[in-house]
Amino acid sequence: METIEADVVIIGGGPAGCTCALYAARANLKTVVLDKNPSVGALAITHQIANYPGVPVDMSGQALLDLMREQAIQYGTDYRRAQVFSVDLSGEWKTVYTPEGTFKGRSLVLATGAMGRPASFKGEAEFLGRGVSYCATCDAAFYKGREVAVVGVNKEAVEEANVLTKFSSTVHWITASDPKSDDVHSMDLLAKPNVKHWSRTRLLCIDGNEGGVTGISVKNKNSENEQKIELEGVFVYMSGSKPITDFLGDQVAYKEDGGIVVDDFMTTSIEGVWAIGDIRNTPFKQAVVAASDGCIAAMAIDRFLNSRKAIRVDWVHS
Ligand SMILES: Cc1cc2nc3c(=O)[nH]c(=O)nc-3n(C[C@H](O)[C@H](O)[C@H](O)COP(=O)(O)OP(=O)(O)OC[C@H]3O[C@@H](n4cnc5c(N)ncnc54)[C@H](O)[C@@H]3O)c2cc1C
Repeated sequence: METIEADVVIIGGGPAGCTCALYAARANLKTVVLDKNPSVGALAITHQIANYPGVPVDMSGQALLDLMREQAIQYGTDYRRAQVFSVDLSGEWKTVYTPEGTFKGRSLVLATGAMGRPASFKGEAEFLGRGVSYCATCDAAFYKGREVAVVGVNKEAVEEANVLTKFSSTVHWITASDPKSDDVHSMDLLAKPNVKHWSRTRLLCIDGNEGGVTGISVKNKNSENEQKIELEGVFVYMSGSKPITDFLGDQVAYKEDGGIVVDDFMTTSIEGVWAIGDIRNTPFKQAVVAASDGCIAAMAIDRFLNSRKAIRVDWVHS
């Protein structure tokens, strides 16, 4: 099987990986991006990306990602479709194993995102981008004056529900267990006049039609009967976002929330290995944040590989 050597091997071709590849390739580093499927990452499934600076507000995430990928390729990135199933970070060269071949990098970048939780509710996958969302920061403005549900009791659910209260007429907060009474953020949320809490209640399914979500069915623990709630948006935060790190095992250090530990230059606990984008489980998961991580890592890698004293800027005064 083929073995390819490169200066920079990037696992994941989302906005983080593509931006890192763009900067690395422009710095004249031999750069390879490996992506299992360019249609399944967080940006790829984003229906409409209205907050990425400089792009038309009606652009789809997929269209923006296509542009990012093409730009990286234009500058010499070797982009390959391949699913990484394991890595060996022990030597100076970092080895990446895929069914399509083995890739050896003088540096390795982890950029596989945080789409590790498969859609599990009936209707969730079907209506994703058409009423189902995982990002209130991104999509709340589409639900001005409308009824929505937030499903989940974790910190992310509480923060995102708070965002939605500024836009939606009613936020139905569906929690299987009760929020802790000493959690001030949950208590603040419950005090909001447009929050309706459905305590000890499970989401059963998400209903809709060709126009998108029309409602949900829920069931309270103490009740025999299902209840239907008419609404237009469902924001699901069941186990939070789960960084995709299965191919890494315990070769790098993780935070308690499953994100990879990095320093200011996106360097992980292993020399020669960087982590960027949602795989870090950043508190603000946004395409522009992921792209920024990619830029920082590429410039740090350039310095690492060339043993430079100072980071070279990638712009020229006219
Ligand atoms: C529904 C939704 C809507 C959103 N809306 C917005 C928005 O409007 N504005 C905004 O700024 N942000 C939005 N976000 C957040 C934004 O999309 C993410 O923060 C961003 O895409 C993270 O970039 P990333 O490169 O880290 O990961 P991703 O975009 O998830 O890309 C990761 C890539 O890694 C690949 N990969 C995974 N595992 C492997 C493997 N084992 N081998 C090879 N490749 C692998 C995947 O195929 C994927 O292409 C939204 C997210 C979601 C889920």
